Amino acid sequence: MTHRQGFSTQAVHSGEIKIKPYYSLTTPIVQTSTYVFENTAAVIEHMQRKVDLLPSLRGEYGRYGNPTQATVEQKLAQLDGGEMALVFSSGMAAVTTVLLTVLSESSHLIITDDCYHRTRTFCTQFLSRFGIETRIVPVGNYQALEEAINSRTRLIFSESPTNPYLRCLDMERVAEIGRRHSVLTMIDSTFATPYNLRPLEWGIDLVLHSGTKYLAGHNDILCGALVGSTEWLEPIKEAESSLGGVPDPQNSYLFLRGLKTLGVRMPKHNANGQAVAEYLTTRSEIVQVWYPGLPSHPDHEVAARQMRGFGGVVTFEVQGDLETTGRFIDGLQMPYIGPSLGGVESIIEQPALMSHFTLESEERKAMGIKDTLVRYALGIEDAEDLIADLEQALDHIGETGG
Ligand SMILES: *Cc1c(COP(=O)(O)O)cnc(C)c1O
Repeated sequence: MTHRQGFSTQAVHSGEIKIKPYYSLTTPIVQTSTYVFENTAAVIEHMQRKVDLLPSLRGEYGRYGNPTQATVEQKLAQLDGGEMALVFSSGMAAVTTVLLTVLSESSHLIITDDCYHRTRTFCTQFLSRFGIETRIVPVGNYQALEEAINSRTRLIFSESPTNPYLRCLDMERVAEIGRRHSVLTMIDSTFATPYNLRPLEWGIDLVLHSGTKYLAGHNDILCGALVGSTEWLEPIKEAESSLGGVPDPQNSYLFLRGLKTLGVRMPKHNANGQAVAEYLTTRSEIVQVWYPGLPSHPDHEVAARQMRGFGGVVTFEVQGDLETTGRFIDGLQMPYIGPSLGGVESIIEQPALMSHFTLESEERKAMGIKDTLVRYALGIEDAEDLIADLEQALDHIGETGG
């Protein structure tokens, strides 16, 4: 029988043992920092299994993993089509751990512009202190990407879709460039999730997620993950055990619970993204809309070919200035104002006032972050309500506050 289970079935059942401790249906939270041994012989047996790289069902110490975490890892490996997955305390713990593992002194790495600002600062301000050089190339320029490779290049790392312009990379093309130059390729797939895109299937070596966003999905925890081959992930697991960016048992449980509904949440995020993006294009108060599901988006063709949906984030530019844009946001009743995305509640932000606030206005402009830019991360509310809310706010955009 070669029937392949659907995404939602896998999201619910994969990685789970059917009969669990105490006959609990859910995977228990094992709230302990350490694990004990019956006697000295049991210690020796456990240590020998570790030396021989044999699987073991028992725990040893919390920083080396916990049983709920192991279940999340098996589920995620299945969902993203990888041999192995690793879970971290945050998306940034995944980023820093993988970079500190695969790069060494005088390595060179390539990232793309329009990238998560903390990833960029870690590379340019932290790794640079260890002689690791970062080249930033324009996302979507494959010639510039290939030309940036030199004999010291170890890694090509990009997001897809990117933040905030939702640029989508051609996975096959990036994987091919990496393979031809023997350079590792890694995609931060946070905005896509394995429901919309499975980079490993297109030949990418490693997938990274901020699980804080869609995977956990409820705006209530921080977590991160990496998925790929055992060959790449075993050394990263070793590094995680030393660097310490590990998830605790409670967070692992919430991560696991979030993953089970990913297959029903993502179609709603995708539908909301498409409906809101299309609605915004009909309004004269909106200068431009970026959404990969719109034919006007520069990467619509590649996104439509490689992705199952385009996600719940819509980026747009409001007619007017910083203040007009703020008034429009304040006029919305549905979304919370804040950073982050991917949870059940809609969240809106003006990047100029949030992620890019500390930059000089000129620096922001050079990065393409206009004062009037808005990032709207749609939750799983109903599209008609989200649109009705936008409609009333846009109808009153010209009025100065009273
Ligand atoms: C949020 C985010 C991160 C960082 O993840 P944390 O869980 O906040 O540490 C990395 N990449 C992208 C694309 C993100 O959106």
